[in-house]
Amino acid sequence: MQRLDRIELVRARYIPKQLKPGVLYVSEEYGAAVHLCACGCGAKVSTPLGPTEWALEVTASGPSLTPSVGSWQLTCQSHYWIREGKVLWAGEWSTAQVEAGRHAEDERRRAYYAALGRERAGFLKRFWRWVKMLFE
Ligand SMILES: [Zn+2]
Repeated sequence: MQRLDRIELVRARYIPKQLKPGVLYVSEEYGAAVHLCACGCGAKVSTPLGPTEWALEVTASGPSLTPSVGSWQLTCQSHYWIREGKVLWAGEWSTAQVEAGRHAEDERRRAYYAALGRERAGFLKRFWRWVKMLFE
């Protein structure tokens, strides 16, 4: 199998059925990003975009995806980063790394929702202060 070391961004309203290797298809409208696994195994890798999913950054030299792409659900066990259009390969996932990766993802989600909660609490506090001010 031919491991890719570059990937380019193609914006599309709809993700095409036939994907080309070395292309990261992004539909911002649907918050979807899909590409063929960079190891050449032909598996479709879906990385939904959103605050608790993947973040896409578009640079002059190509797309960056955060966090890394870990196809631990695939038989190829590929793990790589997409950074400014380059595919940076990590070693294969060990079972421990897979667990750690999942854990880190859970933590990231928890932190995000906790921050959202704090924001809301802060807003309520400000709101009540304002209401009280009106009646003082
Ligand atoms: Zn693969």
